Amino acid sequence: MHKKIFFATLFLLILSIPVLCMASAKPIEIYINGEKIESDVAPIIVNDRTLAPVRVISENLGAEVYWDNDNRQVQIITSSKTIILKIDDVKALVNGQEVVLDVPAKIVNDRTLVPLRFLSESLGADVSWDNDLRRVIINRADAKVVDLAYEVIEGKPTVVITGDSPLEYSAVEIQDDRRLAIDVKGRLDTQNNALYVYDSCLEKAIAGEISIEPPITRIVLELSSNAAYKTYSSPDKKSIFVSFTYFDNILEDLTFENKKRQFIAEITTTNAANADYFFLSNPDRLVLDIKNIGLSEIDIPHVPDNNFVKDVRIGQFADDTVRVVFDLKNDTSYQVFQADNVFSVVFSQPFTIEDVKVTSQGDVSLVEILSSDEVFYELKDDTYKKQLKVIVPGAAIGKNLLDRNVIKIADGIIDYIELAKVKDAKTYNLEIVINLSSFVSCEMLSSSPTSNVKFALHKSSSLLPLSNKLIVIDPGHGGSDPGAIVGSVKEKDLNLDIALKLKSLLESNGAKVFMTREDDTFVNLYARAGMANEINADLFISIHHNSATSSATGTETLYYPDPQKKLLAQALQKAIVSHTGFHNRGIVERPGIVVTRETKMPSALVEVGFLTNSNDLALIVTDEFKQKVAQGILQGIVDYLCGSVN
Ligand SMILES: [Zn+2]
Repeated sequence: MHKKIFFATLFLLILSIPVLCMASAKPIEIYINGEKIESDVAPIIVNDRTLAPVRVISENLGAEVYWDNDNRQVQIITSSKTIILKIDDVKALVNGQEVVLDVPAKIVNDRTLVPLRFLSESLGADVSWDNDLRRVIINRADAKVVDLAYEVIEGKPTVVITGDSPLEYSAVEIQDDRRLAIDVKGRLDTQNNALYVYDSCLEKAIAGEISIEPPITRIVLELSSNAAYKTYSSPDKKSIFVSFTYFDNILEDLTFENKKRQFIAEITTTNAANADYFFLSNPDRLVLDIKNIGLSEIDIPHVPDNNFVKDVRIGQFADDTVRVVFDLKNDTSYQVFQADNVFSVVFSQPFTIEDVKVTSQGDVSLVEILSSDEVFYELKDDTYKKQLKVIVPGAAIGKNLLDRNVIKIADGIIDYIELAKVKDAKTYNLEIVINLSSFVSCEMLSSSPTSNVKFALHKSSSLLPLSNKLIVIDPGHGGSDPGAIVGSVKEKDLNLDIALKLKSLLESNGAKVFMTREDDTFVNLYARAGMANEINADLFISIHHNSATSSATGTETLYYPDPQKKLLAQALQKAIVSHTGFHNRGIVERPGIVVTRETKMPSALVEVGFLTNSNDLALIVTDEFKQKVAQGILQGIVDYLCGSVN
């Protein structure tokens, strides 16, 4: 055992002699790409060839080194080359091909030393020797861009930038987000330096060298509008791909605004888009998925210092979905608003409705809603249902009100107030529902946003939408014209009965009514329309009954083709059948009817039911049914006037 070690040491000493001799001269230095390479074992010269530590040289030239102890050989591997050197063997393998060296690899001081020029050149670097400085100078060969092409890859139009060796690149949007620059480290070495495409994704791509030392080739791509792009490399990195997807809609911009108590992110898309959003906890995040949209690789602006949002991330989550993720600080509440092509995400501290106060003074009730912070609110007036709603998006119920979801008032104007948390498609709203015991007119005393929502309710004797409206009721036929007759039942009488009931309902709710006939007299059709035009009525309602075969049944409303006349017909038809339960035949466009055609105001003609149908007729003749029809028409008029037709 001892002997073996002794011989081994002696052997190493003998080998080391030339190194020791050289030590008197200046040691050999190695520079790679201008930088001095430090190694714990100095290079040596054997037979005029420099040998240097394999690992430090290989790694500086971008290769990996593996030591195979069983075979006493070293493997140097890059993405395109495998070099195998055996210790003390002049035969080397480069990608499986045998190459004979002047000097073999050697082990010196436990380090593998290999022929420096052979290794460097095999790894694509230039080697030179400066004898005065005793310096080996190695320069990595520059990559070259050797082709530029436009192809369809996996169904997507793609610009392919090809190099003779692995390419390093960066992508930057320049000037505006419709021009993209791909900067490649390397020289341009192809005649194919321009692509003129002009399709839905790419106008053109032009390559040129923008720097010589270091060499940089810039490929400028001018994108067509609404092309989103993605860049990636081939596994061997010799090709860079810029693939395009065409979207009708793309995410154009993301901006931030830091307000005192709010932080607002605004996301702009080319056209209005749909989005889903949801909250994730641990850590708290708000995720906004914008649908059917592409992402141009926009620069995400720096998130300014604020109390609510830590960071914002954005990416093409699925082929047609862009995902924006907001990383939130603790206790941040948020609301998402959309107006046309802009999403506004408003982050704030959660706020509460602290109190609801009512001060009653005779015919006026003053309502005050106090909140912990300024709130945006909306007042919904549904006075026909004797309800007013104050809607506050994002509000919570304060401690004061937690056990008071119903507040009894009973002051002759307000019956009671309810607090309801209502989730609509976009946000949680707190609804403060004022249930009225009389008709009111509402006088707003505050404006949104405020921490004190204030309004006065004035007692009123009329149903607000009807107040001072002039409505013409036209009972069909009359006098010598009986309309449809079945047995002893004449249409003209039924029409007048309903008209009189409707007149009374309208007048008691504040409307003014004009009748085209108030008794059994004949009135010309053009005269009926003329009267309504003459007095400049707000609405014209004609009442008729139908006749046909015995199987025909139900209510229909006829209208002259005009948007407002159609809306009125829809409102009447819907409300009448909901009051009577009659079969709904829907609305019917009839350009030829004189009274609805000649009237200048919204008008419609109601065919209540069929006298020729025994089931219809049995109900139609009853007083109770006529009252229901009148109430249905009243509601239809109110719904039309309130714009609540759908
Ligand atoms: Zn008729």
